[in-house]
Amino acid sequence: MPSLFDGASARIQAALEHIEISQDVAQRLAQPDAALKVGVPLRHDDGRMTVFSGYRVRYDTALGPAKGGIRFHPDVGADEVSTLAFWMTMKCAVMGLPFGGGKGGVAVDPKQFSPAELERLARAYIDQIADFIGPDSDIPAPDVNTNPRVMGWMADQYRIIARAHTPDVITGKPIEMGGSAGRATATGDGAFHVLSTMMQRWGREAKGTTVAIQGFGNAGQCFARRCADAGYTVVAVSDSSGGIHDAGGLDIDAVIETKNDKGSVSEAGGEAMSNADLITMEVDVLAPAALESVITSDNAGDVAAGVIVEIANGPVASEADATLIDNRVLVLPDILANAGGVTVSYFEWAQNRQAWYWDADTVAERLEQRMVEATHALADRAEDNDVDLRTAAYILALEQIEKATAAVGTSEFFRVGRGA
Ligand code: NAD
Repeated sequence: MPSLFDGASARIQAALEHIEISQDVAQRLAQPDAALKVGVPLRHDDGRMTVFSGYRVRYDTALGPAKGGIRFHPDVGADEVSTLAFWMTMKCAVMGLPFGGGKGGVAVDPKQFSPAELERLARAYIDQIADFIGPDSDIPAPDVNTNPRVMGWMADQYRIIARAHTPDVITGKPIEMGGSAGRATATGDGAFHVLSTMMQRWGREAKGTTVAIQGFGNAGQCFARRCADAGYTVVAVSDSSGGIHDAGGLDIDAVIETKNDKGSVSEAGGEAMSNADLITMEVDVLAPAALESVITSDNAGDVAAGVIVEIANGPVASEADATLIDNRVLVLPDILANAGGVTVSYFEWAQNRQAWYWDADTVAERLEQRMVEATHALADRAEDNDVDLRTAAYILALEQIEKATAAVGTSEFFRVGRGA
């Protein structure tokens, strides 16, 4: 299997077959602006110390300061963080946000730590990357296994180091520390708006449409609730312990309660099913909302769903794209479908900078408007260029970055020798 980053580059190449952009932009996007690797020392409760590997990457900042989450997971490494930062660059561009792309992480399994150890780890990571981030250069946020409390510790540590109140350095904070209303549900809400907009364009109804969701964390749960409330039949959900299904539809509120009480969805009723079977089950809409590369060349041919909503980052490996296109599976690409989170993060940053806070209805309304507009722009572009939605998303993103780059002059401009 190609590396994650090779897969990301393949999507750029597919888009470049349909547009011409300056070689300057292509060259800039072939590698990150800056990549930092640090040792993150953690003093355990029993006095031991372990040093974990930490990373922060600013991929591209043509459109604004880098923006992107921090992941705590054993698989975190330089290739993964760079690829995630690259995807953030594309996501912010396709959404028209004034941000470039960044990402960070620590290679660690946080579930083994006490709360006090987790706090020390979060603060130690910020100690090591504090010179690399900032409200005008690189603004972190939560990702897998990090949450508002972790962001709160990190923002507080930055405040101590900077000796200044800078809530705009990190988004996804607790509301009491300058977080935004609506941030907690933003990714699931955004994915739901993208699906609804496309369903409207296709002339299809929620009623009678079945949905399966892999991954039942922050994003998966919220998406499930929105779908159930709108009249879709959510027939299967899963988490790392496995899945459950019920052809008549699961009671999503009850499944969320069980997941939060017992830590897994397995005891929430329905019949047990594996994560592998969920990916290939007969369903109208499949929403992978856990980790990368769960649909590869091995199982892409067996996907029975007509629509895939990519809530996770990179759930479809690039090698599987051609099979899904051949089989007429419509993929709503991650850089649009999960962009609700970064969009409300942008709202949070804007509110922090103005010290002027919006109510939940205002956030929800502005999020919906941006997601619906971006979805129509992308679907229109796909029709115009006669390409799949993912290629259209990359075309739009690359054009945005090209415009910002061209504004200060590309090789083409300077070569003809025109003055400024
Ligand atoms: P989370 O940690 O809250 O939830 C992840 C879920 O996936 C959990 O239910 C976990 O049990 C499940 N999971 C883990 N490994 C699995 C496996 N092998 N098979 C099936 N399920 C598995 O994370 P989240 O914030 O909901 O993020 C999920 C995905 O969405 C990630 O790819 C993340 O990068 C992406 N995403 C999240 C946000 C956000 O704002 N939360 C924004 C954009 C993208």
